[in-house]
Amino acid sequence: MSDPTSTAAPRAATLAKFASPVDRFHLELEPLKEAGVKLAGIYCVFAPVELVRAAGAVSVGLCGKKQGPIPEAERVLPANLCPLIKSSYGYAATATCPYFNATDFILAETTCDGKKKMFELMNRIKPVHMMRLPTDKSPEAQALWLAGMHRLAEFLGGRTGTAVTDKALRREIALQNKIRRALLDVAAFMSEARPPISSLDLMGVCESRTFVLDQEAYLADLLALRGELEALRDQGVSPYKAGAPRILLTGTPVGRGSEKVLRLLEDAGAVVVVLENCTGIKGVVGLVDENADPMEALAKRYLDTPCSCMSPNQGRLDLIDDLVRQFAPTGVVDLVWQACHTYSVESFDLRRHVEDSLELPFLKVETDYTESDMEQLRTRVEAFLELQTH
Ligand code: SF4
Ligand code: SF4
Repeated sequence: MSDPTSTAAPRAATLAKFASPVDRFHLELEPLKEAGVKLAGIYCVFAPVELVRAAGAVSVGLCGKKQGPIPEAERVLPANLCPLIKSSYGYAATATCPYFNATDFILAETTCDGKKKMFELMNRIKPVHMMRLPTDKSPEAQALWLAGMHRLAEFLGGRTGTAVTDKALRREIALQNKIRRALLDVAAFMSEARPPISSLDLMGVCESRTFVLDQEAYLADLLALRGELEALRDQGVSPYKAGAPRILLTGTPVGRGSEKVLRLLEDAGAVVVVLENCTGIKGVVGLVDENADPMEALAKRYLDTPCSCMSPNQGRLDLIDDLVRQFAPTGVVDLVWQACHTYSVESFDLRRHVEDSLELPFLKVETDYTESDMEQLRTRVEAFLELQTH
């Protein structure tokens, strides 16, 4: 048997299914395009994929996570803007993202200022449907968001020729709830003392959700992965050594291409036990109530997303409390992309909550998509982890 503490510990075979999302995307897209199915591009976990699918369309996640197209984006956008927004726009402007190029239209929300203004420019490249996202959950805000859901259903019906019915919406809600449950089950393996999956692999699994068009197949892969991870755990197989510092990584989204802080943490010997951000758990927690009116239940679930664009955003602290109970981290790292004002301001209260109420060490890391500060970040990360091993 292989050394369970080795970094070459066996990996679950099903992980290969999540490794090349772009190849899988093209394979799945071709027959759908031939059948006239429309593809919606989405940028945010506020986009209700159930509604898209109930209207007979499919969706793909487009959030820019790489530095490559940013210089081109800066010909239009200010340099002092969050890299996620610049990367997203850069891919659209340079037509270098296969996912963006394949879309028929874009679903957008009025989240942060930079993003919503960027969508005005993107609308010149591809049709953008904007949803008016309120910033709180008052009755007026809920009514506004629900009306926006109905407007989105009309927009989608106009594009696809398929009116959204309660029956179709209930079917898609049930499917996405199953996917959320299965993803949470897979993520729960990170609460083990020595998890049977690496956090980078888990990030890829979560991220793939927005790229896989055949969502039933994605669910089947998740269920297979869960079974394999159970077996690996029972054999004591893990890519991690015992006693490693355990980190809860919160803040702005990360994914393939923008995972440098996650990599730094793991290279320095930590286990990132949970990604609280919207490419991790935040986009998965909270089921849609299957016993309520489907449109109202959908609107409620999405408006509950604890993004820093909401004010106040007590939901993020509540979620972190739950995750601390489940994953037992020894420290919290708050990643803020440069010029992301909402997450940066929120970091002040979050630090107080983590240090004073949860009594855990806290590190705020503000950076961008470049590698220019890697050595400085490495020093800070190593010093932070050092505190947790004494
Ligand atoms: S952090 Fe908020 S605005 Fe940014 S992508 Fe996530 S949900 Fe959307
Ligand atoms: S990371 Fe911050 S600035 Fe960037 S898109 Fe998300 S909320 Fe907006």
